[in-house]
Amino acid sequence: MSPAAAPPLFPLFVDLRQRRVLVVGGGAVAGRKVAALLASGADVALVAPGLDPALEALVSTGEITHLGDAFQPEQLDAAWLVVAATDAPEVNRAVADAALARQRWVNVVDDAQLASAQLPARVQRGPLQIAISSGGAAPMLARHLRERLELQFDDSFGALAQLFIEVRDRIRTRLPELPARRDFFQQVLSGPVPALLRRGDADGARHHLTALLQAAPAGRRGRVALVGAGPGDPGLLTLRALRLLNEADVILHDRLVSAEVLALARRDADRLAVGKRVGEDHDATQRRIHALMVERALAGQRVVRLKGGDPFVFGRGGEELQALRAHGIDCEVVPGITAAVACAAYAGIPLTHRDHACALQLLTASTRSGEAEHDWRALARSGQTLAFYMGMAGLSRLRDRLLDHGLPASTPAALIENGSLPQQRVLVAPLSELPQLAQAHAVQAPALLIIGEVAALATSLHWFGKPPITSASQRCCNSNSDLARAA
Ligand code: SAH
Repeated sequence: MSPAAAPPLFPLFVDLRQRRVLVVGGGAVAGRKVAALLASGADVALVAPGLDPALEALVSTGEITHLGDAFQPEQLDAAWLVVAATDAPEVNRAVADAALARQRWVNVVDDAQLASAQLPARVQRGPLQIAISSGGAAPMLARHLRERLELQFDDSFGALAQLFIEVRDRIRTRLPELPARRDFFQQVLSGPVPALLRRGDADGARHHLTALLQAAPAGRRGRVALVGAGPGDPGLLTLRALRLLNEADVILHDRLVSAEVLALARRDADRLAVGKRVGEDHDATQRRIHALMVERALAGQRVVRLKGGDPFVFGRGGEELQALRAHGIDCEVVPGITAAVACAAYAGIPLTHRDHACALQLLTASTRSGEAEHDWRALARSGQTLAFYMGMAGLSRLRDRLLDHGLPASTPAALIENGSLPQQRVLVAPLSELPQLAQAHAVQAPALLIIGEVAALATSLHWFGKPPITSASQRCCNSNSDLARAA
């Protein structure tokens, strides 16, 4: 297997207290490994013909045992772990071979190939540790990451972990249920305790934590957050959405929510896709979602109802909030970046560029009973930008309505398919020609339609992904206007 294709190492923190670790080697490198092993409480036994003064001193105080000059495979029998740290490659190899034959984990200094276990770069703050490994592929990169983490996490993290250890038993007694404990920790972490510790005020922090613990409700009230997940690019989530995703017990998500966004959620949260099932109508789906949210919240869970874009823009979030309120459930709503705003940004279409538009309308092309009712004459007026959601199915009909009510056939229009995602496509054409262009390029949902002067700007202002696909006449009007501008 090539190194690139090798699976990653499995990270594991082991308890070495009073467990024998055999170190072969007596120089400075062996000395560093011995110091690290002793710090974890290991029972270190050493094999080497000559010892550094520092190791010599440890032997004389009885902190480590010197087994002898020469490595012998039987020395492995009592060991849980082996470290080969000599400067003689043939000795390191002999130790590694013997260890593998006896199924002992072996770390070979500076030889990732021979080793079955590697000692990671690490960042330590009291009992809290971050271990970093590149699997031997790029130790420099691991070191670089460690330096960054060292800067990022100050010593107060260690003090915080220490404080948690100190009060662990009291927390368990006061809050025997795990969900209530999780809430409590979350409350501590988002309150003033970390800041007090950063200022070095350990007593103040302990006092505050104790007060919070006394006030903590033993039971737990479930709640629901209606959260906007944005258009798909995880970078467009809000910090609040990310935080709730990390606290959730269960996530009920739409089909439109991207896998990349879901990957950011708490690992052991239940993830339920609640989109429409085969043969089920929209209202039945919606009733099922309401029932599920209510049931989970009443059972004390933290529910995140994760919806594409913004929950209140063509997302039925309003109905969900009404259903939750009717059952007296605690709710919160987290706005998301809605498709019109995201698609326009990622297509280079300034929705209200002041040379072209002084109003923006968010519209739906279809409703549950078919075509949406609009005041078509008002929509056909110039000086505004129209953003149509759910327009793919009825695109030609939509065009006909607008043109029949007086919108000029040459009005620029843009279709943005999979906006903000790597596979985004943008089509720009006069509205009269857009349905044909969309059909020629097999545009599919989700796609957003933007109509108005500003749509033409995508051909010059695009910056993300591939340049827009244009119709022949759009190309010709652009070059005309470019010429006009140049003149
Ligand atoms: N609540 C969502 C809209 C849900 S309606 C929001 O605020 O964005 C579904 C419609 O949204 C789709 O038919 C499509 O028109 C639009 N849409 C959602 N995500 C999109 C995306 N990534 N690219 C293009 N259109 C999208």
